[in-house]
Amino acid sequence: MSNIFDLSGRVAVVTGGNGGIGLGIAQALAAAGCNVSIWSRNAEKNKAAAASLDGLAGKVQTQICDVTDTASVKSAMDATLKTFGRVDGCFANAGIGGGGRHNFIDRTEEQWRTMFATNLDGVFHAFQVAARHMTERAEAGDKFGRLVATSSLASIFGTARNEHYAATKAAINALVRALAVELARQGVTANAILPGWIKSDMTAGIMGNDKFVANVMPRIPVRRFGEPSDFGGIAVYLMSKASSYHTADTFVIDGGYTAF
Ligand code: NDP
Repeated sequence: MSNIFDLSGRVAVVTGGNGGIGLGIAQALAAAGCNVSIWSRNAEKNKAAAASLDGLAGKVQTQICDVTDTASVKSAMDATLKTFGRVDGCFANAGIGGGGRHNFIDRTEEQWRTMFATNLDGVFHAFQVAARHMTERAEAGDKFGRLVATSSLASIFGTARNEHYAATKAAINALVRALAVELARQGVTANAILPGWIKSDMTAGIMGNDKFVANVMPRIPVRRFGEPSDFGGIAVYLMSKASSYHTADTFVIDGGYTAF
């Protein structure tokens, strides 16, 4: 029997793959033999991310890409297809945090729109170029595709003064369910990952706050914050043949936080 988690010959895009959770996903995919294209804005961080994947079984390329911009996403897709010839999976992971808590009544139009432009429009742009390519391939008889978005526990918890972030993530959960139904017959699955409290640039500030750590840590049964590498297993599973019958789901990865 062949290894159902062997990703040799597969190609995955990881938006926001140059750091944090996205890099954890990219590293695990490449270690399992998947070729990876990282789409993020910062050239230096892209270079460092590519270097960290050097020597793994899969090949890596990076594209400077702003997911808020349709043209930028289209050109990243064209460049990825030019290098690897196909895209089998799209991990729409790029996202921004709340940028400090504000009362809803003080929320500015600009804060609201900026949040949606990255966290929701960014997923729309990446998924759409990937799904177009996957459905074209399906029409030619090659029915395989994986759409995976990084959502958040904020999509299911009431997160006061971060409602704009929470709303984008709840929309992602609805989006993957809808796409799972629409694209199932093309062999394309669609799922979301809901991280708990994970160490990354996004959370470095809050995790440096002793009061926050003292408050949150007792509510995490495994008694540690998550690491980007904690997302490698789910990424490889979702990218593999093993998950062909697993679609329209939201995977909570939080060290047991939601169980409390
Ligand atoms: P990081 O800040 O470490 O990573 C964010 C990534 O997104 C970076 O690679 C960044 O690269 C990229 N990015 C941001 N904006 C854009 C853009 N417009 N276009 C392309 N890339 C962009 O954060 P995390 O790893 O923590 O976050 C990853 C995802 O996980 C996000 O969607 C976040 O909401 C979600 N999440 C994180 C949690 C946590 O506890 N850390 C909890 C729940 C969800 P660059 O700046 O180079 O573009």
